[in-house]
Order: sequence, then structure tokens, then C-alpha cells
Amino acid sequence: MTTTTAAATIPFFPPDLFEDDRDLLLDTVREIATDPAQRFILGERTARFEELLRTDLGAGDVIACGSGTTALTLILRAMGITAGDEVIVPAFGCAPLANTVLGVGATPVFADIDPHTLVMDPDAAEALITPRTKALMPAHMFSVMADMPRLRALATRHGLRLIEDSAVAQGAVLDGRPAGTWGDAGVFSFVQVKSFGGPGEGGVVVTSDPELARTVRMLRNHGQDGTHRFRHHLVGLNSRFDEILAAFQLRRHPGLAARLARRAEIATHYTRHFTPLATRGILPPPPGTDGRCYYVYTLLAERRDDLHRHLAAHHVDGHVYYPQPLPHQPAFAHTAAPGGHWPNAERAARQCLSLPVYPHLTDAEVERITTAVLTFPT
Ligand SMILES: *Cc1c(COP(=O)(O)O)cnc(C)c1O
Repeated sequence: MTTTTAAATIPFFPPDLFEDDRDLLLDTVREIATDPAQRFILGERTARFEELLRTDLGAGDVIACGSGTTALTLILRAMGITAGDEVIVPAFGCAPLANTVLGVGATPVFADIDPHTLVMDPDAAEALITPRTKALMPAHMFSVMADMPRLRALATRHGLRLIEDSAVAQGAVLDGRPAGTWGDAGVFSFVQVKSFGGPGEGGVVVTSDPELARTVRMLRNHGQDGTHRFRHHLVGLNSRFDEILAAFQLRRHPGLAARLARRAEIATHYTRHFTPLATRGILPPPPGTDGRCYYVYTLLAERRDDLHRHLAAHHVDGHVYYPQPLPHQPAFAHTAAPGGHWPNAERAARQCLSLPVYPHLTDAEVERITTAVLTFPT
């Protein structure tokens, strides 16, 4: 017998994330493949999934669509945001924050982030408001929700729409209010790696604005109203939802809370052990559970690349999200303020290192990861 398991690398993206659900996935495919209705998109399972999330969130409406990215696009389009308009987005985050805004012809305006929580700094955002500004589009980052109370107040004070990119924060709650329900509209993503990821592409728009909901519902299916086929009220797009994904997610939803709780338990363990490292160049995310959802657990390390190599040598796979801030990306630099600087975003891009935090990590693996970080010579 060989005992190589002790030295096996703990992966950052585990290939066995859905292993326990493989039979469920096969059953789901069979169920839909043999259903006499032969309805593969926007059927009754999608409607039930929308209703489940709507009830769960206490939201006015939930509209399932093709991805988290198109969910943002649908919201921007439904709000009438277009050429000549500006949308303030964080300078550090994923590409959809910029490319969805550019996709509707508007301009993303990049606001710097808070140096520790890594979410958009409301003061930086406020300084960028001009007569062209139509919306604020903050994103919850890694494990920390954006400062939604202050951003809400800012949007109200300046008469702006508030779009909440809650793609990674499903299940998070801030001041008793769920992520996704703070903005005029919010989104979730069900792409594989997200906390409620599934076997394919999908997303939702969450909103309690009935007019916005009605428009998003039409836009996702070529501007039709769901009653009159081939009558196109609006210039829409194809961003529909798959029945197999809906059935799979309906059946996995009851386990979501426990999986999120396990992520939070692992993160709490990490933070407890890593807090003393703050004076030695390794800063854990802010502790606590309010406004947190541990989609990703991210350290800020002054010697990030050394720590990354040290972890690899100890068979722990770390991951660097977003090694470049959005305004420095080749695709977006032309839209950014010339000569602009986003010092906190630039520092985050140099220092971020994420650790595995998925719910099926064993306690022994969590301990190995913790020890690997603690033995980094600082
Ligand atoms: C994943 C993600 C998206 C996009 O979701 P997709 O379903 O991959 O299109 C948008 N915003 C944030 C913050 C994300 O992490």
C-alpha cells in the first residue's frame, strides 16, 4: 500500500466539488430528457426556482437568465443606461463590472477600493459623480459585502440607480438584509465555482421594482412578454434559463445553508489563527459573520509571491484573483481616467492570495492549510 495522500496537493479548484451530486445530476438529466413536455428552457422548473429564491430573499421578483454577466447587462438595459452615461464601478474586481457597462455603450468610471475590505470605497465613488453618472455598481468581493448602507444613501442623495453585483454573495446578510436585495436590482451567478454553482451557466436578477422586473423578463427573451409569441415589445436578447440547471438547483438548495456555514466555519478558523500575522505582513480579511459570505478566503500578503510558492511547497494550492486592477487591463485602459491611480486596488492586485475554503475540506486539510501559512518565514 502506498501512502501518498499526506503529500497530495490540496487543490484550489477541487475537481470533486460535485461528486456527491453526480447521481442527482444524472437523475435530473434523465427526468428532463424523459418528461413528456420536452421543455428545456424557461419551463415550470425555472419558474419554481425563481419563486423559491424570491421567497427565500423576501424580494419582489427573481428572474432567471443565462449568466451573472447577462444579469448585469439586463439590469443596465432595463434601466435605460446607454451611450453618454457613466456608471461608477470598483477599480478592483472581475471583468463583467467593466465590460457590461461598455457593452451597453456607457462608460465605466473606476473608483478605488477600501484597503482592507477590498470593496468599493463610498468616498472615492462620491468624488467621481458627475452630471452624466446614472448608477453606482458596487460588487461584493471574495467574502465581504460592499458598504451597502452608505452606497444606498449616496445613490439616494444624488438620484442614482444602485446596481448590486452580488454574484458571489448568495446567502450573505448585512444588518438583517440579504445580499441581492440592497440595490434597485442585484444578481447571482450559478457558474460552477460560485458558492451556489451548478453544472453549467446561469444567473438571476433580483429586484423589488415591478417595472424593472417586467422589463428584465421581456429583455431576457427577445423582448417578448411571455404571452404573445413573436410580438417584440423591446429590443431584447437571448438570456434564458435551462430546465436541467433549475431542477438540479431546486434539489441542492436545501443544502446550501449548511455548505455556507461550513465555509464560514473554515474561514473563522483561518482568521483566528492568522490575525497575529497582521504585524508580520500577512493580513486576514476582517473577522465576523455580518455582511460576510466566504465564497473565497483572501489574504493580503506583502510578500505574496513568496507565500504562494511556500504554500505550493507545502502542497497547498493558493490562487491569485485579479493580478491587475480593471483600469490597467488592456481592454479597459482606454476608458480609464488618463494617468489615473487607484493605489488600494493596485496594492490589492499585488498582495491578494486566496486559500481553499470549499465546504468539503476535511478538518485535517484545514489544519494543513493553516499550518502551511503559519510556517511561512516572516
Ligand atoms: C462571477 C461573477 C460575475 C459573472 O457571473 P457569470 O455567471 O460568470 O457570468 C459577475 N460579477 C462578479 C463579482 C462575479 O464574481
